[in-house]
Amino acid sequence: MAKPASDRPLRPATLLVRGGQMRSNLDETSEALYLTSGFVYDSALQAEQTFTGEAQHFQYSRFGNPTVQMLEARLAALEGAEACRATATGMAAVHAAMLSHLKTGDRVVASRALFGSCHWIVSTLLPRYGIQTEFVDGADLGQWKAAFKRPAQLVLLETPSNPMLELVDLKAVCDLAHEAGAIVVVDNVFATPLLQKPMQFGADVVVYSATKHFDGQGRVLGGAVLGSKKWIEEVLQPFVRNTGPAISPFNAWTILKGLETLHLRVPAMCRNAAAVAQMLEERAEVAAVHYPTLASHPQYELAKKQMSAGGTLVSFTLKGGKEAAFRFLDALRVIDISNNLGDAKSLITHPATTTHMRVAAEERARLGITDGALRLSVGLEDVADLVEDIAAALDAVGGETAPRKKPLGRMVVEETVAAVKAPPAKAAAAKAPRRARAAEPAAEPAAEPAAEPAPAPAEKAADSPRKAPAKRAAAPAAAAAPEPDLFQQGPKRR
Ligand SMILES: *Cc1c(COP(=O)(O)O)cnc(C)c1O
Repeated sequence: MAKPASDRPLRPATLLVRGGQMRSNLDETSEALYLTSGFVYDSALQAEQTFTGEAQHFQYSRFGNPTVQMLEARLAALEGAEACRATATGMAAVHAAMLSHLKTGDRVVASRALFGSCHWIVSTLLPRYGIQTEFVDGADLGQWKAAFKRPAQLVLLETPSNPMLELVDLKAVCDLAHEAGAIVVVDNVFATPLLQKPMQFGADVVVYSATKHFDGQGRVLGGAVLGSKKWIEEVLQPFVRNTGPAISPFNAWTILKGLETLHLRVPAMCRNAAAVAQMLEERAEVAAVHYPTLASHPQYELAKKQMSAGGTLVSFTLKGGKEAAFRFLDALRVIDISNNLGDAKSLITHPATTTHMRVAAEERARLGITDGALRLSVGLEDVADLVEDIAAALDAVGGETAPRKKPLGRMVVEETVAAVKAPPAKAAAAKAPRRARAAEPAAEPAAEPAAEPAPAPAEKAADSPRKAPAKRAAAPAAAAAPEPDLFQQGPKRR
């Protein structure tokens, strides 16, 4: 019998390494990969009792799988959410979160600045089923207020947004949405659970593409939906079990391994991103830089309130339009051209001709996605190599006519990395009593995410819930407030 797990609440870094682990009776160190579609029973009676819910046993990997369950428990512990379901992709997570909750006649309000496929679901898919949808400018509280004059059932928003890194005031919009009768679904991909915890500001459901920072090494697709135990079990689980967006156990295992370094990778990528953002602001070829914690960001104060660092993405607009953007991209020698993000490798994309190509030109203009706009996902390379790569490519755009405003090099980078500030972590208490600051373990006992839920009544007859046959689970406890303390003061605009 293995030693008992810690009963103290654990901090985010520990949860990312150990949260949710279920060891088999073989006592393996690493999380086991249960690459199996189904499960067998000791007896006909056990099979019957599993299906009635009297016995706990895994049944079929579309309903649940031990490796996937470890991932779900780890993500729930990190987010400070009661429950989680992993999905095959981020889009499967967004789709399931919305379609499981909505029905004909319902009304959805969404921020306009959304990931392309999320925008398609709201603008094109939902209306086919008689669901009314309305877009608002996410940064404009007046538009949210106007939209909530009529009742609504669901809100979808992204903050910071893809690709122009616009912010939505989470607390204000959640309060308004709840008054109008809506649940709030936040796509938190850009911030990651380390930099922003939407549930602390009132969000009901948080969705992720695990493809991005969770794996973070360009290997597999995955997604996750987090929410209350009741909503996940009664609303989401019947939908995902019967429609089948299940994640492969192999992908879940790869993401579990990726999570073990999330707390090291994301802060390092944020430091690199902040340095790159500062360097870009000083270049004559650049018309504008968008990074939440630059002093020049129009929502800098809001960023300080709800994020603990600016994130791993930087967007910027080149003065010369599409031609300049393409010349710049083609001149890069380290940073790759790719529409992915959140990777150890720095990746850059031209949204107007790739990710947002299908968004109507007029809508693109409204979102600030001009032909000169670029979205850079900053990776883990030596930041000096990134800065040099970008500087050389900007030289290629501007030729001799656009001299640097200031010499560049390591000095700039180090000054930027030095500027840090404590995270805010305010609106926690009411919604999330189990959450604690990293430095002060919560007094309350650990939640037990591995413990299996009682089946929802409607589902008992069909098949029983998933279960944990393992000996024990490391007790992922109160997730702490955003840990990395990387808030970038922002350079003084010169
Ligand atoms: C990538 C992404 C998604 C979709 O995730 P997939 O894993 O590619 O399906 C959704 N929202 C945002 C903000 C993303 O960046």
